[in-house]
Amino acid sequence: MTGFVDVHDMARWVRSRGIGPVLRGLMDAIEADFQRWQGFERTPRIASHTPFGVIELMPTSDGETYGFKYVNGHPSNPARGFQTVTAFGVLADVHNGYPTFLAEMTLLTALRTAATSAMVAGHLARPDSTTMAMIGTGSQAEFQAMAFRERLGIRSLRVWDTDPDAIAKFARNLLPRGFELHVAASGADAAEGADIITTCTADKAQARVLESVDVAPGTHVNAIGGDCPGKTELDPEILIRGRVFVEHEPQTRIEGELQQMPEDFVPVEFWRVLAGDTSGRSAADEVTVFDSVGFAIEDFSALRYLRDDVTGTDFAQRIDLVAEPDDPKDLFGFIGAYSPVV
Ligand code: NAD
Repeated sequence: MTGFVDVHDMARWVRSRGIGPVLRGLMDAIEADFQRWQGFERTPRIASHTPFGVIELMPTSDGETYGFKYVNGHPSNPARGFQTVTAFGVLADVHNGYPTFLAEMTLLTALRTAATSAMVAGHLARPDSTTMAMIGTGSQAEFQAMAFRERLGIRSLRVWDTDPDAIAKFARNLLPRGFELHVAASGADAAEGADIITTCTADKAQARVLESVDVAPGTHVNAIGGDCPGKTELDPEILIRGRVFVEHEPQTRIEGELQQMPEDFVPVEFWRVLAGDTSGRSAADEVTVFDSVGFAIEDFSALRYLRDDVTGTDFAQRIDLVAEPDDPKDLFGFIGAYSPVV
């Protein structure tokens, strides 16, 4: 039998554990797996692009457990009543190839993306950071804010979105949770006085939602929205000025802000900071940039953390996903156990 967490149980699990503890648990799980980065199979995700958006498969394995996520990115979806990003994921046992765990990952992706951003910022942002600008207040945004509060104690947010309804929704969700909000009049206004700037917009375009002139020395930029070929958010000057950290460089070259840079521009794969191979932030006035596209190891960590926490509880069902005849060669005869022979 395969463990299974559906949308209803995922939401129930987050409510029951508390979103803060879940985000902290995910940060620890993701950091632990980044620390053993080289023990994983690493490959850029497999993408199917259409004029509507992209559908991607994100596989990895640590030699014992194999995992993959199915995820889409359709920036025009909200205008048609659908979400931009939805996902589900699987873990499987490497020794026999059987899938052991299956889960919804639309919610889990928002949680893992936020946990990754905050974990990385915990190593790169100035420790005295108090204020974060958020450009783009769609589905991912509240999760990002909650994770940055958990990891860095950020309570003051300066927010901007081209859609006033998205800002109103963000305020409705986060004001009762004790955040201070400044609703900005533009991206530049949001960035003013911010220690950290998160860009999480969705537009299939080489956009510039943040200009270099609006990034003060010492800022950490958490850029998560540029994650597809032809889809970027930052003025490239920010990448030249700053020190750029990425997940898996070959994937980020295809999908991240790095698309805008020449081949000889060398970013730092973030796992190297945790391994002690290189420093994180090196000066209080340095601009640091996390050019995040989302990597398979983060999904693997999130699924592993979820599986370990829910197995044996009523948050996980057990589903009959794999046909298992008593005689492993008699798959045909196995059908008879379910329906009369015709
Ligand atoms: P969403 O569609 O729910 O929200 C995006 C928001 O951006 C919308 O409210 C939209 O009005 C706003 N926006 C678009 N252009 C803007 C602009 N120029 N200035 C200000 N606001 C603008 O999408 P989402 O689910 O919140 O995802 C946000 C982005 O993050 C997407 O591009 C998605 O692909 C990406 N993403 C990245 C990761 C990762 O791991 N890096 C994970 C999940 C999602």
